[in-house]
Amino acid sequence: MLKTPIISVQHLVKNYGDFKAVKDISFEVYQGEIFGLLGPNGAGKSTTLEIIETLREKTSGTIVVDGMNLDTHPESIKKIIGVQLQSAGFYPNLNLVELIELFVGLYQTNIEPIALLEKVNLVDKAKSKFKELSGGQKQRFSIATTLINQPKIIFLDEPTTGLDPQARRNLWDLIKEIRQNGTTVIITTHYMDEAEVLCDRVAIIDSGKIIAINTPNELIDELVASGFEKTKEVKMANLEDVFIHKTGRALRED
Ligand code: ADP
Ligand code: MG
Repeated sequence: MLKTPIISVQHLVKNYGDFKAVKDISFEVYQGEIFGLLGPNGAGKSTTLEIIETLREKTSGTIVVDGMNLDTHPESIKKIIGVQLQSAGFYPNLNLVELIELFVGLYQTNIEPIALLEKVNLVDKAKSKFKELSGGQKQRFSIATTLINQPKIIFLDEPTTGLDPQARRNLWDLIKEIRQNGTTVIITTHYMDEAEVLCDRVAIIDSGKIIAINTPNELIDELVASGFEKTKEVKMANLEDVFIHKTGRALRED
């Protein structure tokens, strides 16, 4: 893969009053990759994403998205990115097709609602309201809304939190498919198994600082090379494998 940076973050700092939430972080996201921002609660993941998304002011630092500087071209950046809306933004009385039509109008694009619902496997819910969807379906719909303006980059903040294993795998497939179609994906998660199967590269962020950045494979190899050994004998499967093996991969009331 050609490593062309599509996002460049240099010396990003974010203070909330006296509190330093993001402490001088720098990283690049390459075009066409799935980039994971990993870290415990409060690490600064959402703050970082929302600053790049132009939704939050930074304290200092330089951000360039697809060649455009965030300080001078925020409106142009907004046009090429897809951001998951908070569920509060989904008007309660509109069904999924009507919601998509509303967003299509706002973005002035010409996406066909049913075609978009097809992408996320929700055609049979076309006439349902957002609140009537299960957790996994809500997440799929919210990911669909990021695609309405046919963005170059989408931002997913903990899209699989709270989902059951089937719904989680289904969402992984969807995210891979979106990337396959040429969209760069930035995702936050605190599930390491998810990052391992999904992300081309990850940055581990803790207390506002990036403490590691690499491919999952190389990070693991580095740790092993440093002499790290697991204390327990590693089995060829884990409990999640048992669960999926016995209950199958088919989607439920996700
Ligand atoms: P993460 O997404 O990694 O869980 P956040 O970026 O949401 O972390 O938060 C990073 C830190 O900044 C946390 O300690 C959080 O409490 C604090 N924080 C986030 N938003 C605000 C805010 N609007 N005002 C003050 N502190 C905030
Ligand atoms: Mg967060």
